[in-house]
Amino acid sequence: MIAPGGTIGILGGGQLGRMTALAATTLGYRCHIFCPERDSPASQVTPLATVADYGDHVALAAFAASVDVITFEFENIPGDTAEFLAAMKPVRPGPDALRIAQDRLEEKDFLRSIDVATTRYREVASAADLAGAVREIGAPCILKTVRLGYDGKGQVTIRPDTDLRTAWHQMGAETGILEGFVDFTCEISVIVAHGQNGTWATYVPVENQHVNHILDTTIAPARVAPEIARRAETIARHVTEQLDLVGLLSVEMFVTADGAVLVNEIAPRPHNSGHWTIDACITSQFEQLVRAICGLPLGSTERHSDAVMKNLIGADIERWRDALNEPTAKLHLYGKNVPRLGRKMGHVTRLMPRR
Ligand code: AMP
Repeated sequence: MIAPGGTIGILGGGQLGRMTALAATTLGYRCHIFCPERDSPASQVTPLATVADYGDHVALAAFAASVDVITFEFENIPGDTAEFLAAMKPVRPGPDALRIAQDRLEEKDFLRSIDVATTRYREVASAADLAGAVREIGAPCILKTVRLGYDGKGQVTIRPDTDLRTAWHQMGAETGILEGFVDFTCEISVIVAHGQNGTWATYVPVENQHVNHILDTTIAPARVAPEIARRAETIARHVTEQLDLVGLLSVEMFVTADGAVLVNEIAPRPHNSGHWTIDACITSQFEQLVRAICGLPLGSTERHSDAVMKNLIGADIERWRDALNEPTAKLHLYGKNVPRLGRKMGHVTRLMPRR
């Protein structure tokens, strides 16, 4: 167990790191942020920060020497970085979960290998390979980069009349994955925490609405039949168990009109669809991560309120004052100065009595 007073190393300096550090501070830990950017959202709230590239082994070794345990808030940490650090200090969740989540093909192959349903998919190794893949999967379909894609970056929807050469160039990577387009009735996600002593905690499934492939709103709990919610929880737990990780896993799923639940993506870290837990649950996802990686007992995931979380993206940030006038709204800002298009600047959680 790493007792309060210890130091948690966090790879990545974004808002997930910031909110993890705030939760860790409440429990009496210090955090040390490692990321390439100066004045990152996470380093603004911590006493220790290293600004260096993820490939800088001298800086990584000094970072590892200064912390008791290491976690990550950013999924695209190079695999070598996680392996290098894991030789010196515990990295939780481990490098294996990170590697699988970083690669959409490896992720889907893994899900298939443990009997978890996904949409149809196929690797596309070149522009010339795309036409055959589209014939096999059928249009509409979505071409995605295998690596380094998030928030809709590197994704192109292909319809029967789409020019495939243009689509390939828009995707912009050397290898792609082509996925069958899922005509879902809603998107949901489940966050599971797994402690070091085999303990579990699961948050209620929530409903996610995306705009331009970026999460816009999370409704907690999801408005789905109890049977669908149970199935989603069972799937999320099964995936976490098979990954054998210590920490958090968020599992994003599509629900279709005929009641199928298909996994879209997994992320071994806190998730945007779990931000509502800060204000509506006894233990937030961030505190839960700290508890799990430090070997503390997991906390209750019980919610005392229902909630709707709305991201403040890009220019939305200009309306931040409005939330302060609403009696049941909680405003969270991430300390980012420049509101670029598509950039997550903060969020507002609106609380309501439990249904
Ligand atoms: P992703 O980066 O895979 O999480 O995709 C971002 C969003 O794009 C998802 O949350 C969906 O709204 C949409 N999307 C991604 N893949 C598919 C798919 N195969 N079928 C339908 N919509 C998708």
